[in-house]
Amino acid sequence: MTAKLMTTPFGEDHELFRQQCRRFVEKELAPHAGEWEEKKGFPSEVFRRVGEMGYHGVLIPEEYGGAGEDYLMAAVWCEEMARIGSGGVSAGLGMHALIVLPAINRFGNEEQKKRLLLPAVRGEKIGALGLTEPVAGSDLASIRTLARREGDHYILNGSKTFITNGNRADFVLVLCKTDPGTGYKGFSILIVEKGMPGFLQGKPLEKLGWHAGDTAELTFENVAVPVANRLGEEGMGFYNAMANLEWERLIMALGTVHGAQLAFDKTRTYILQREAFGRPIGKFQVNRHKMVDMAVEIEAARQLNYHALRKLVNGEECAREVSLAKIFAAKMGDYVATNCLQLHGGYGYMREYEIERFFRDVRINSIGGGTSEILKEIVGRIMGL
Ligand SMILES: Cc1cc2nc3c(=O)[nH]c(=O)nc-3n(C[C@H](O)[C@H](O)[C@H](O)COP(=O)(O)OP(=O)(O)OC[C@H]3O[C@@H](n4cnc5c(N)ncnc54)[C@H](O)[C@@H]3O)c2cc1C
Repeated sequence: MTAKLMTTPFGEDHELFRQQCRRFVEKELAPHAGEWEEKKGFPSEVFRRVGEMGYHGVLIPEEYGGAGEDYLMAAVWCEEMARIGSGGVSAGLGMHALIVLPAINRFGNEEQKKRLLLPAVRGEKIGALGLTEPVAGSDLASIRTLARREGDHYILNGSKTFITNGNRADFVLVLCKTDPGTGYKGFSILIVEKGMPGFLQGKPLEKLGWHAGDTAELTFENVAVPVANRLGEEGMGFYNAMANLEWERLIMALGTVHGAQLAFDKTRTYILQREAFGRPIGKFQVNRHKMVDMAVEIEAARQLNYHALRKLVNGEECAREVSLAKIFAAKMGDYVATNCLQLHGGYGYMREYEIERFFRDVRINSIGGGTSEILKEIVGRIMGL
């Protein structure tokens, strides 16, 4: 007899962790999402509370205060964050815990890890990642931020934009050029810390979605950054910034699918309650079919994600699978948001119903973390095209 096959990549431990995350999110974060969206910001206290729960440290070894878990456990936290119902909050928490801290853990030296990871895992210090510049996003090799070595410091000049957690970050991993003219080997990553003279953190930018999120411009005017704050080797910055891209992209796809599933579930409830022409609107065949069409897309996106996640966890090459998953999830998210909003009629257009927020928030997924066009270029190259 054939052994029973696993239907998801997750085991019993992951599902127990999921229940714990879900209880926390539903009790302590989701009830405030509407207020934080209206106020266009969420308190830094949220980072500390999430730190107390241990979630920032999911990928960080125990010696630096974390839980030392793998990508599967982190994927669970990532999925459950979608239940907050505010892309801006989950993006801020996710950027800190799932992107910035693992980069320090991977490339940092002992002093940097002790000094930054321990308080960051507790949520007492908040991290950000500064790659994008006003003049260069997709084409990162064209960034202009420049660090000139002077003794035991780098003198940093330039600017970054669209930086998640940028306004309140206590430290930012800044990709810059240390040796322009030497191609990909001319980049380094510097850890720029709040309060360093010449480091300016702009106010959160006004956005279509992610209203509770802090997305800011950063400016560096002759900032003297100690050489001890360089993350990884000089000249390895570009490679190190790209080293975890598959995971960083998959995070967005996982969040998109979970968010779409929630919007779908809310819509299902709504269309069974709302009546028109003497029956629930969900009982019209056209709407029933619309729901099934959405279910197909969500399920397909979920399976693409899990296929890519399995390969990532196995340590296999997965640039193609992750790119396909993110491209598909982003398209699916827009499609599901449009249809769920339509099924809510006028109420879908109202702030009061979370479908409106999902519709705005989900739009980022084909832009952030590598646009769908750039991902198609990657897959095209892999295909030999
Ligand atoms: C809310 C938000 C949060 C963000 N957070 C962060 C963050 O924390 N840290 C960070 O560093 N960045 C962050 N970003 C930046 C994000 O990663 C970039 O916006 C993204 O990489 C695209 O870069 P760009 O905006 O410069 O667009 P561009 O690169 O100017 O692209 C514009 C358009 O041209 C297309 N295009 C570009 N090159 C090609 C090509 N070769 N072939 C076909 N089409 C092409 C793109 O696909 C896109 O449609 C964030 C962005 C947003 C909106």
